[in-house]
Amino acid sequence: MSPTILRALPLLSFIVACSAPVVQTSNDRSAAPFIALRAPTPSPPASLSTPLRIRWWEDRIYRMDDADRREAYLRLGELYLENKNGMEARRCFRQALEGRLSTSEVAQAEYGIGRAYLLDSRPGLATTHLTAGIHGATGPGAEECRYLLAVCEGETLPATPELLQRVQPYLPDEGMVAAYAGSGMLGFLDVSRASWRAKPLRQNHEPMGPPTRITVHHSAEPLTSRKLSESRKEVLRIQSIHQDDKHWADIGYHFLIDPAGRIFEGRPVEIQGAHAGNKATNRGNIGICLLGNFKGQPDRGPEYAIEQKPTSTQLASLGKLTNSLRATYRIPKDQVFHHGEFRQTECPGWRLRGWIRNYRAGIKPN
Ligand SMILES: [Zn+2]
Repeated sequence: MSPTILRALPLLSFIVACSAPVVQTSNDRSAAPFIALRAPTPSPPASLSTPLRIRWWEDRIYRMDDADRREAYLRLGELYLENKNGMEARRCFRQALEGRLSTSEVAQAEYGIGRAYLLDSRPGLATTHLTAGIHGATGPGAEECRYLLAVCEGETLPATPELLQRVQPYLPDEGMVAAYAGSGMLGFLDVSRASWRAKPLRQNHEPMGPPTRITVHHSAEPLTSRKLSESRKEVLRIQSIHQDDKHWADIGYHFLIDPAGRIFEGRPVEIQGAHAGNKATNRGNIGICLLGNFKGQPDRGPEYAIEQKPTSTQLASLGKLTNSLRATYRIPKDQVFHHGEFRQTECPGWRLRGWIRNYRAGIKPN
């Protein structure tokens, strides 16, 4: 650890995000001359607001030497967590992990990434990092990490009021995680059926058999909100259309991805889907639907005339989900399709068609 940073961050600990900053008041005369006599300190004044402290670090981080920079990224990650910016917090903790860190610093970075995913309501992605965070952690951080991991797995550990207060900002939405604990799907599910209040599967279903291919769709319904509550409503609405109007056993797709990139559990993978066109094309075919209207449909009114773009987080989740499913079921890359390859349809729009072609060709998105 670099000595500069050791001086600058004497309190760099696991619980920085939850501890109240020490504010130096103007009448604290004993402290003022001491500060003035010291060499320029590489730490922002504690009286600065969180966004200003973030700016302070961001302005200096590229001038630091390598060791200082790794340490500073840990500190910055904690500040982004304080500021409820999960994406930036993950970026910083990942940057820190690229350097040489002690075991407890690696644990802090992993715990930070886990909390950042929890801030973004993605417990399914938090678990691996929380598990890594427990390994090598000590003290309050280890206790918090263990508690949050248990929550992600649908359990509740006994906790003191102090512990609950510290983990409170990271607790996921009620019921979001309980239902898929133990389902083996933790790696790639963010929102369980119970969470979006799915109605039960009906009797008229057929078993899927071993999945051998994957097909990507769009919902063809405009959706721009990134709120979890709006996405839940939309998935439930699609299920109602499929069950009540089309008389299907369940929502037609096995997975759905909302504009914030959250992966929703659709019909169970053990059950054959209703998405590709007919029984033959649905056989062994996992259906993934991205929520949004990615092909303009002016004949359905002005709202539908707007051609939306899949969001970058939505595409990132599609990539991760497709990779996980292929690894789980040993599906070759050339068995990933879009709807238009099975029948005459505009689904899922030209952008997703291009994404599928690139995926099969092994071309990484920009
Ligand atoms: Zn489709």
